[in-house]
Amino acid sequence: MKGSIADDALQIIPQGGVLTDNGLIVEAGDFETLRKSNPNAELEEISGDHVLIPGFVDCHTHLCFAGSRAKDYALRIAGKSYLEIAKSGGGIWDSVTQTRKASKDELVDLLLRRIDQHTKNGVTTIEVKSGYGLRVEEEIKQLKAIKEASAKSKADLVPTCLATHILPKDFNGPVEEYLELILNKLLPKIKQENLANRVDIFIEDGAFSAADAACYLEVAKKMSFDITVHADQFSAGGSQVAVSVGAVSADHLEASGDEEINLLAASETVAVALPGASLGLGMGFAPARKLLNAGACLAIASDWNPGSAPMGDLLMQASILSAYEKLTTAETFAALSFRAAKALNLYDRGVLEKGKLADMQAYPCNDYREMLYHQGKLKPIKVYKKGEMI
Ligand SMILES: [Zn+2]
Repeated sequence: MKGSIADDALQIIPQGGVLTDNGLIVEAGDFETLRKSNPNAELEEISGDHVLIPGFVDCHTHLCFAGSRAKDYALRIAGKSYLEIAKSGGGIWDSVTQTRKASKDELVDLLLRRIDQHTKNGVTTIEVKSGYGLRVEEEIKQLKAIKEASAKSKADLVPTCLATHILPKDFNGPVEEYLELILNKLLPKIKQENLANRVDIFIEDGAFSAADAACYLEVAKKMSFDITVHADQFSAGGSQVAVSVGAVSADHLEASGDEEINLLAASETVAVALPGASLGLGMGFAPARKLLNAGACLAIASDWNPGSAPMGDLLMQASILSAYEKLTTAETFAALSFRAAKALNLYDRGVLEKGKLADMQAYPCNDYREMLYHQGKLKPIKVYKKGEMI
């Protein structure tokens, strides 16, 4: 589950087949053998050359938003920094304003459109954060929109409460008071209404300090939320908090140094690289190669959001990261499947083997290496969720 993986560790089944029942994989193996031993099974033969792999798991997105931040992007490519733009009224706060204006139904529609694009590209499990409400009732609205979209979509959505994205500009009080409000008024309600099992926080200058975050997360953990952290994006510090509270994942890590890398490698916390944010911000990538060499469990996610990562193409981003960070194909696919599932505390998907969910995607090629070679331009022509074609 952790550390580097050579490509020859990939199990390739030529002329393969997958037997599914009730949404689960019963067996993956040689097609003819499977056919002969299961004469009554319904057959779906895919003609021509295809490579079948597990459906992708995108373990970090902010898909539930309204509005565009094209203006921010134009400023940024012209040389303004992320923090400068945030301080001058753009950034996350701009998305908060626009998302608050949207109704729940509008958010559901926007979400479904983005989910549809993702599933067509082979992503069958999608984590979605709140974090553009930053008020008890607005965070609830976002999480309810995610729940509703989940019921209407074929993909599995995994909701996360990110009410601690930034300290909202219209909150009159110190940080501690805001964190207490979230802990006392929002999180119990989320539990009660079963809106999320995960809590996230952005640890960074201009967001929350490591010390404040550590106190907040300890309480959230006692309330039995899984913990994930926006860590080490511009400055190191968040990943140490993530490891010390036993977070399922620490995400971003662009600013992680050797100390943070070794901490993560020695922990069970999944290190999540978000190349889409590096591309959107024109910044360096997370040290994915070093993390794997040190023995960490590396996942790759899209961070799809209106500000720093508007592209939303997970395979393209992963293929670019693999070229820059020198990742093997096996490491890249693991980071998009079972290792990303681990970041969501899910162990029932991401591998084509007996007992796992039959979430799969087929690419029109005869060699698994074609997928990264085409850098995301080769798309799956068939996507299955729990054995059913989407
Ligand atoms: Zn994010």
